Amino acid sequence: MAKKLVEAITSMEEDFAQWYTDVVKKAELCDYTSVKGCMVIKPAGYAIWENIQKELDARFKATGVQNVYMPVFIPEGLLQKEKDHVEGFAPEVAWVTHGGLEKLQERLCVRPTSETLFCDFYAKDIQSHRDLPKVYNQWCSVVRWEKTTRPFLRSREFLWQEGHTAHATAEEAQERTIQMLNVYADFCEEVLAIPVIKGQKTDKEKFAGAEATYTIEALMHDGKALQSGTSHNFGDGFAKAFGIQYTDKENKLQYVHQTSWGMSTRIMGAIIMVHGDNSGLVLPPRIAPVQVDIIPIQQHKEGVLEKAQELKSVLDAAGLRVKIDDTDKSPGFKFAEQEMRGIPVRIECGPKDIEKGQVIVVRRDTREKYTVAFETLAEEVQKILDTMQKEMLERARAHRDSHTYEAADYETFKKTIEEKPGFVKAMWCGCKECEEKIKEDLQATSRCIPFEQENLSENCICCGKPAKKMVYWGRAY
Ligand SMILES: [Zn+2]
Repeated sequence: MAKKLVEAITSMEEDFAQWYTDVVKKAELCDYTSVKGCMVIKPAGYAIWENIQKELDARFKATGVQNVYMPVFIPEGLLQKEKDHVEGFAPEVAWVTHGGLEKLQERLCVRPTSETLFCDFYAKDIQSHRDLPKVYNQWCSVVRWEKTTRPFLRSREFLWQEGHTAHATAEEAQERTIQMLNVYADFCEEVLAIPVIKGQKTDKEKFAGAEATYTIEALMHDGKALQSGTSHNFGDGFAKAFGIQYTDKENKLQYVHQTSWGMSTRIMGAIIMVHGDNSGLVLPPRIAPVQVDIIPIQQHKEGVLEKAQELKSVLDAAGLRVKIDDTDKSPGFKFAEQEMRGIPVRIECGPKDIEKGQVIVVRRDTREKYTVAFETLAEEVQKILDTMQKEMLERARAHRDSHTYEAADYETFKKTIEEKPGFVKAMWCGCKECEEKIKEDLQATSRCIPFEQENLSENCICCGKPAKKMVYWGRAY
């Protein structure tokens, strides 16, 4: 039985895309629905999202963020107020044309993002410098009419948070933009054990209507990049389009400066693709809804289930998230299931162990086994989880670093992109034409202009003109 469960997933070396789909399904994270391009997030998946929300929300609030809620609909006229923004989103917007049996006088779009709603609100709500800053966030879902969809990575409706702020000065807005990018980066590294590259998007890749977009980029196990969170500085562009003005201390009218920033359920895809293996999901302990799976061996024997329950109480009291698998499945099947679901450690507890006053603790990522005495269980399990969390980040970083290459000429660049999945660092002149040629030739995009710049060569990898910036390139999800 246990073997069958494991055999049901494709190995990642054989077909990474199929492996991903198999894990999503077998770990019961989400499933397809009768609504084309939309998914149901199942309890095991939603519990991870709830932990992401909890952690991020606390980090936001520590910087002064307040949560609000905006309507799900945007009147067409409102969406069209900022030209670049509407052009960027129009192709993937879903429209409501009827209310009940009546045709609407003005179409409503289902929000693809809420800049326009926040701007409309801020235009009314902000009058004076005393009303600033506004540092609002909302947790919600948005709709983008994608043609091809994949669980968590691209779906027509997805969950996210979107922060929208308004500030008195350009400096303050820029500071907030970078502050939130750092919140995302720290969250990814400290909680999800996913190392990220922080940088700025090129003009070609930036958000529709933004002055500057900053991003954190992560590398998946197959060497493809995933944009994992973005933070935008709008300058006063939206403020001018929507008339968001305040009177400053000298009683002069000024435009506000705005930012927005978001992280979505796409990040669930990153957790799967950075840490998973051929037995299924591997969850970093800090985000795992269940951290410890106690599996009783020969549970029909006297005292076994009682002992398991007692151990659970001890671990619960230590603040760990624990479950007992006392179903009538075989232990082998339960082990395979615990591995598939990515539960960080399992505790095997049978009559012989109980006699010796100990249990076997097995780590999900390395499968290392530890014999631990009852008396020190909570302490030891916590230690194992901490080590696992730390080593998962180190492993992910080592993988990323060993899949990050450099290229100083186009031949090397081309060969690297085609033959070695990963990031390629190369110099760029700053022209959109070179980005377009690279995309056309190699299906690779500029991932970001990293904050940590290096000088790899004097000239642009593509056109040979003097280089302005070093860019991370790669194929991406
Ligand atoms: Zn160039």
